[in-house]
Amino acid sequence: MNTIYLDNNATTKVAEEVFEEIRPYFTELYGNPSSMHTFGGQIGNKIRKAREQVAALLGADPSEIIFTGCGTESDNTAIKGTLAAHPERRKIITTRVEHPAVLQVCRDLESHGYTVVEIGVDRNGRLNINELENLIDDNTAIVTVMYANNETGNIYPVEYIAEMAKEKGVAFHTDAVQAVGKIPLNLSKSNIDLLSLSGHKLHATKGIGVLYIRKGTRVAPYMVGGHQEGGRRAGTENVPGIIGLGKACELARQNTELENNEVKRLRDKLETAILKTCPDAMLNGDKDNRLPNTSNISFEFVEGEAILLMLDRFGICASSGSACTSGSLEPSHVLRAMGVPFTAAHGSIRFSLSRYNTEKEIDLVIEKIPGIINRLRELSPFVKT
Ligand code: PLP
Repeated sequence: MNTIYLDNNATTKVAEEVFEEIRPYFTELYGNPSSMHTFGGQIGNKIRKAREQVAALLGADPSEIIFTGCGTESDNTAIKGTLAAHPERRKIITTRVEHPAVLQVCRDLESHGYTVVEIGVDRNGRLNINELENLIDDNTAIVTVMYANNETGNIYPVEYIAEMAKEKGVAFHTDAVQAVGKIPLNLSKSNIDLLSLSGHKLHATKGIGVLYIRKGTRVAPYMVGGHQEGGRRAGTENVPGIIGLGKACELARQNTELENNEVKRLRDKLETAILKTCPDAMLNGDKDNRLPNTSNISFEFVEGEAILLMLDRFGICASSGSACTSGSLEPSHVLRAMGVPFTAAHGSIRFSLSRYNTEKEIDLVIEKIPGIINRLRELSPFVKT
């Protein structure tokens, strides 16, 4: 049975071109770039090139690119590094729909005496942006708002918020882990000070991330104990990860627009067909302002986990909007913040596509879904009579 992978917001396939590029760096060119000998030292040039490739995708200067271990580390560094650089400021502004790599960090900091303000969202997951302006004050160290939401795909007005923060002299960070490679970004024309990305979301390998730090932005290092990355992130570099991310960024730069038109076409085909053929199904998120690859759909009166298991029988991979915590199914914090009704939040499924999905795959999913939902509803104790 072939796998139909529609869970690309969780992780992506490593592109063949990326794999070919990094293969020698495991078995032949395995030197440490910090070594004095030529064997290790030659790796430095490849890292330099990768930094330029990442910077080119973002419209940044290579000196503004810091390689990290993952998106989570980039988020932690941005927030904690900014607080450490501005010890007199004790307030953080964020949103209720951030990934835990931001939200959990903020909530932990709250328990250490910081004031954390979480902006809410409306029923479609759009930020209540009017709340924001009056909240940014002299005590605010950082405003951190994600570029695009991992569950709904909603794109947030980060450029506008960054401008607001700049006017008040406050650092602005965005978790762009889901945005990079899916929509075009240009940091040379933006007021974003800090941006996080993660290699495994754009067809590079796991275990590599980037924190973009705009020139002049004050951020204390999070990882110390080495001179790597100009002393801004200690630790021996993940050489294959870095080189692969450079290649993945080059591919994304060449293809983002073209591929995403096609990805969006397939996503829209899938979504339209599901909403048409399945009664009591609804879209979660901002229909018009979303990532081109993401569709989050709630099926009333069925458990998302049960749908996933049935899809799995056909080799179809997606993910659900509820997580099994302490033996009970908790609807996601994002859908809860949006006020999605309990019965709908429990039956939510996220489909996230990539450039590797085909029309044939989407047609097969469209064919299977109505039967799965009908079957589960026949068995459901919650179903309407
Ligand atoms: N931020 C967002 C929006 C994400 O979707 C994820 C991963 O799903 C992360 C951060 C964490 O990235 P990583 O898996 O590289 O730590």
